[in-house]
Amino acid sequence: MTPSTQRRMPPLQHTRDVEAQKELKVYNSLTKRKELFKSLEPEKVRLYTCGLTVNYLMHIGHARTYIFWDVVERILRYLHYEVVHISNVTDISVDDNILKRVRASGEAFQQLVTRHTRDYYHDRRLLGIADPYTYTVATQYIQEMIELVQQLLEKGYAYEAEDGIYFRISAFPNYGRLAGINPKQLKVGAGGRIDQDEYDKESVGDFVLWKRAKPDEPFWHSPWGPGRPGWHIECSAMSKKYLGETIDISGGGEDNLFPHHENSIAQSEAASGKPYVRYWMHVRHLQFAGEKMSKSVGNILTVRDAVKQYGAATLRLFLLSTHYRKSLTFKEEDLQRTNSQLDSLRYVLTRLHTFKSEQKKSSTSDDELLAELEKARSTMETALLDDFNTGRAINQLFQFVKHVNQKLEASQLISNDTVDKLLIFFQEMGTILFGDQYTREVEPKTNSVIGQLVELLLQERDRLRQNQEYQQADAIRTALQRIGFEIADTKTSTQWWRKGAYAD
Ligand SMILES: [Zn+2]
Repeated sequence: MTPSTQRRMPPLQHTRDVEAQKELKVYNSLTKRKELFKSLEPEKVRLYTCGLTVNYLMHIGHARTYIFWDVVERILRYLHYEVVHISNVTDISVDDNILKRVRASGEAFQQLVTRHTRDYYHDRRLLGIADPYTYTVATQYIQEMIELVQQLLEKGYAYEAEDGIYFRISAFPNYGRLAGINPKQLKVGAGGRIDQDEYDKESVGDFVLWKRAKPDEPFWHSPWGPGRPGWHIECSAMSKKYLGETIDISGGGEDNLFPHHENSIAQSEAASGKPYVRYWMHVRHLQFAGEKMSKSVGNILTVRDAVKQYGAATLRLFLLSTHYRKSLTFKEEDLQRTNSQLDSLRYVLTRLHTFKSEQKKSSTSDDELLAELEKARSTMETALLDDFNTGRAINQLFQFVKHVNQKLEASQLISNDTVDKLLIFFQEMGTILFGDQYTREVEPKTNSVIGQLVELLLQERDRLRQNQEYQQADAIRTALQRIGFEIADTKTSTQWWRKGAYAD
């Protein structure tokens, strides 16, 4: 059964006429240039992304990559593509890093990976990332991996050694294209074999496909005796199962490029004789005090701690504020600035919702504002479709937020129709950038019980002010501010908005 017959994503509710598909430009790590994106099948994109090795909690360096892929998927859907997104979970015994951690923690292997797989799903959702079409958990596809290794053996691309099965890179002339390694300069065959999952470009050699089990290691039965797969074979086997031999887009963090993706290409293309991935994309690392954030360096901030401290919407905005191919440094003060920026959007949204609930009938000419809206949409689209330039799109968004705010300050007269168009625009763009956090954290909850309670308090404050009981009126304002609600009196009404996210 192919994924397209299993389950389809719910169609998007398009609020505009479906236009001809717009041009999307993608920087391809394989060809090292920006290319016009064209999917294999019109209106459908096969996307495979490399997920977490579940030996620990996800940190915000990972979050940069996974949030980026969430935005890519949402933009493709905005362009009316059906996206079949498969994302793997390396749960593996199969992974040397997990084995190291199992030994260090004393926890049973299965216990540790099950716990961290669950944590991984939870933390992605915490960040407003949509679940992929399917998560493929590596240990559930051992049979597919064995079959692929067998195929490589039969075709002469692999050979059996004492400690396992290896891929013979001298048999695959395209080896090194992605990572920019010239195979002619490698002493292939002579340099021997690499039995580790991770190594550097200098020490490249035949890489392991299947490792024979050592004492006390988890193992699976195979035609070559008990053992476990090498890390790279899982992605080749699982992407083929769900997406076929050639897929449109794949990628991960920049550390996945070599050796993982280079080896995935070799395995898949040697077996199928067809191109494996048409567009490769890689996200730069998040820097933390001048270093890559990683567990081995010991400078990690877990996603759940970061969300507790800054809120998921602020984190998303910060991580997307710089183009994915540029380096980004995590700085406390930048997070604070991002949070204030987000508050300006929340403020404008609350004001727009209040306008709506007041049912203003007056409809002046909103032409100028609507023209600005179309300009904002078009510049944001241009940025997002230019190799997913979220940084530029975010700048455009906040320029427009400022403009709308000035307009609202200057005149209270915007028709409900214009308010609707603005809210729809903010929702469309907000959902791309903030994902599921847009409705959870960014959109005001003016109609919620909390919103209604604030309104009641403000009515009481109005009554007190009319009776010139200013001290008591101010006490209400101070109390609301203390729990995070800002209040501003305009000529005709009182505006309120929430600083930061709602706790619920
Ligand atoms: Zn992978």
